Amino acid sequence: MNALAPGKPPGKESGVSSTSSEPSLYAKHQKVYPRAVSGPVRRVKWAVLAVLLSLYYVVPWIRWDRGEGVPDQAVLVDMAHARLFFFWFEIWPQEVYFLTGLLVLGAIGLFAVTSLFGRIWCGFTCPQTVWTDLFMWVERRIEGDRNARMKLDHGPRDARWWRLKLVKHAAWLAIAMATGGAWIMYFNDAPTVTVDILTGRASLAVYGFFALFTATTYVLAGAAREQVCTYMCPWPRFQGAMLDENSLVVTYRDWRGEPRGKPDAAHGDCVDCKACVHVCPTGIDIRDGQQLECIGCGLCVDACDDVMAKLGREKGLIAFETLKNLAASQAATRGMAPGPERLAAGMAVRRPQKVIRPRTLVYAGVLSAVLLVMLGAWLMRETLTLSVQRDRAPLYVTLSDGGIRNGYTLKLANKGRGATLHLAVALEGPQGLRLTVQDAEQDAAGRPVITTRDDGITQWRALVTAPAGLNLPESTPITFRLLDAQGRSVLAQQSSFLGPRR
Ligand code: SF4
Ligand code: SF4
Repeated sequence: MNALAPGKPPGKESGVSSTSSEPSLYAKHQKVYPRAVSGPVRRVKWAVLAVLLSLYYVVPWIRWDRGEGVPDQAVLVDMAHARLFFFWFEIWPQEVYFLTGLLVLGAIGLFAVTSLFGRIWCGFTCPQTVWTDLFMWVERRIEGDRNARMKLDHGPRDARWWRLKLVKHAAWLAIAMATGGAWIMYFNDAPTVTVDILTGRASLAVYGFFALFTATTYVLAGAAREQVCTYMCPWPRFQGAMLDENSLVVTYRDWRGEPRGKPDAAHGDCVDCKACVHVCPTGIDIRDGQQLECIGCGLCVDACDDVMAKLGREKGLIAFETLKNLAASQAATRGMAPGPERLAAGMAVRRPQKVIRPRTLVYAGVLSAVLLVMLGAWLMRETLTLSVQRDRAPLYVTLSDGGIRNGYTLKLANKGRGATLHLAVALEGPQGLRLTVQDAEQDAAGRPVITTRDDGITQWRALVTAPAGLNLPESTPITFRLLDAQGRSVLAQQSSFLGPRR
């Protein structure tokens, strides 16, 4: 049972009647009016929201001293200098594999968390959930809770309606602008770009992205809300592959709740009050089983626990539970009448969640392997690198005296900061090949000397010439070696010298 499947159209309980009894992809959207709820899950969600939003808005303002001439922003994607700064770390374009590794880590981590705790990402930490929660909180403060909002929307558009709607949308827009503005700060120096935006001195690109991210936040969190999760996000579609019977998911213990009805001995614990439906941000009824629309936020757990407490019944009619336990309880209570014996029988067969199982071991193994590779790559990271690019057009030039010449671009990347290095370039290859480096000085041995730039790349044009009479094959391996002042090899890079087919 309980395969993830589309449920009834969201908003069934919104107070607007549906025109069709069949779920349809083309059903008219019915607005969801979630009711406020309090309880342990809600408190955890508030805490997560506060931490994540604080991090998002505050991090660009954290300063980090890296020395002169380098950005002092702790987290910055420095497009102008093609660099990513993250506190102690500095990633160059040549090291983009670190970002790839981080993305792989994030993806596998998400798979692992999903296999253990179901849609905890969707329900607690996904930006769509966090900002929608914030927008709903603002909406409630201004328009009131579920009933008041429904009454407002279905009532006349009088002065009060306009006032409340204007205030709400102004507040949403302010949050959206703060969100869009904060995003820009991750790509620009935060204090500078803030002043530039406010004084009209920012570039068109900055204003463009500011407007884009403001509009995206406003539309997704204010208007689209649960529709993003239900129709736009691909994650619910394939997360089923990560869930199994041992994953924790929000479940209605139907073996205990049914038959639902009045709070008497003839009925189960569900009094059909629909509190769980009214608090649901996606407008579904968890009692219909596992559904694609359920983001696993657990607010229905709080709502139902509150009802159970008021009725003097045991909490947990809706709970974070494994499907394995749910099936075991269903089997143990089949045919039993509602009452304390059925509840005790159903709870007695529950077992602790099985955390160590093949799929979690695989995820843990892959996570550890990727982490180790990344750690090794970081520890062996070189601060000085040389890349040699041979000209591709033309591959070689025949000189008027019959000699053959190849052109190369030497790129010397210095990721460190400190003294400038002066390095002699030695060419290793067949006897007779001559090396010149344009604009380079020469050392006592007549070798061209190139210099590093602090925290930057220097680029040099090198020419290698084979004099007439030096008969080389079509392709000859050569090596550019950099030597320090004591003649010690610092770096070497292989390339090839091309000539006509003999
Ligand atoms: S909140 Fe609990 S008692 Fe009320 S309808 Fe939902 S499951 Fe039944
Ligand atoms: S059914 Fe419950 S857990 Fe699922 S989205 Fe609705 S309130 Fe959240």
